[in-house]
Amino acid sequence: LKEKWFLLTGNIIRKRNGRESVSAVMVDVTKDHEMNEHLSMEKERYKVVSELSNDIIFSYSYRTDTIEFGEGFDMLFTGDSVRSGFLSDKSWREKAVHREDLETFGAICSIAESGREEVDEQVRLKTRDGKYIWCRIIAKAIKSRGDRGTEVIGKIMNIDRHKRELSELESKAMRDPMTGALNKESTRVFIENYIERYPDMPGMFLILDIDKFKNVHDTYGHLMGDKVLIRAVNEMRKAFRADDIIGRIGGDEFVVFIGNIRSNDIMIKQAKKLHEVLRTPAVFEEVTIPMSASIGIALFPEHGRSYEDLLACADRALYEVKGTTRDAFIVYDGRPM
Ligand code: GH3
Ligand code: MG
Repeated sequence: LKEKWFLLTGNIIRKRNGRESVSAVMVDVTKDHEMNEHLSMEKERYKVVSELSNDIIFSYSYRTDTIEFGEGFDMLFTGDSVRSGFLSDKSWREKAVHREDLETFGAICSIAESGREEVDEQVRLKTRDGKYIWCRIIAKAIKSRGDRGTEVIGKIMNIDRHKRELSELESKAMRDPMTGALNKESTRVFIENYIERYPDMPGMFLILDIDKFKNVHDTYGHLMGDKVLIRAVNEMRKAFRADDIIGRIGGDEFVVFIGNIRSNDIMIKQAKKLHEVLRTPAVFEEVTIPMSASIGIALFPEHGRSYEDLLACADRALYEVKGTTRDAFIVYDGRPM
């Protein structure tokens, strides 16, 4: 035995003789009732899921060009959680989406038009406090029946922490743990990237080796040797731009690569600067250690268009410095090796 739901509609009919009777129709609406109940349960479930996961659910209708964000939107982002003119008015996008991610965001927005049914992209969105956070946006187009047209539903997930942890890990793996300079492998990768991106933009490849570093080590111990190396890298970092490449390719051997050099004057200036920086005595509470380094230089693209060629030429020049005066820099003379 099952409960059933009925819709009862009717009216009272008053007859001429004053008597009244009721005429009514009874419709079995059990199915509709069940469906409604099912629907409101689905909605509730949807809400609970989005609350539990911190994801922000959204739905977009092409017919009305309106996007509607669910729970959690206000907590993280500014602006209305219901926004009309979503596609037609692009101005808000520039405020809400990171400049570098506008193209990706556009691809997300054109999901139904492009014929893609699903997107899964990562973009940076601006939060209430003006910072950008990394978000993953998953959206799906649904062609609904009736006059509602295509709709898109999806969710925004805050993946900022995850993303940052990942890039921190990546940058840790790229660096020499002691000095914080790029390690040998990343030094090569960074320089090769430069060569690929700017094949005609002059650059300078400097290889340097600290003079008589073994003495530091033998006189003051290994720990002091480490401190001196760390200090040398810090000094180099201070002296050069953030996008110059500073890498440690051996015990007391480093590579500095400077890109986008517009004139020969700048080359000389930079070489002198590096030489001077490495001549600064290492001052510690207990001792002051005089320092110097020998530097070999190769020019890009003049002396080579690959990491290996530049390294070989610069190394050759370094060898000459070490064989003569030390504490100086020499540019590779271009003679075939
Ligand atoms: P040169 O002027 O010919 O370069 O003389 P040098 O004494 O610097 O000799 P070289 O560059 O051939 O040797 C570097 C020495 O640096 C070898 C090793 O004792 C020391 N060294 C290498 N890596 C480290 C390190 O990570 N920490 C410390 N403390 N010492 C290191
Ligand atoms: Mg040395």
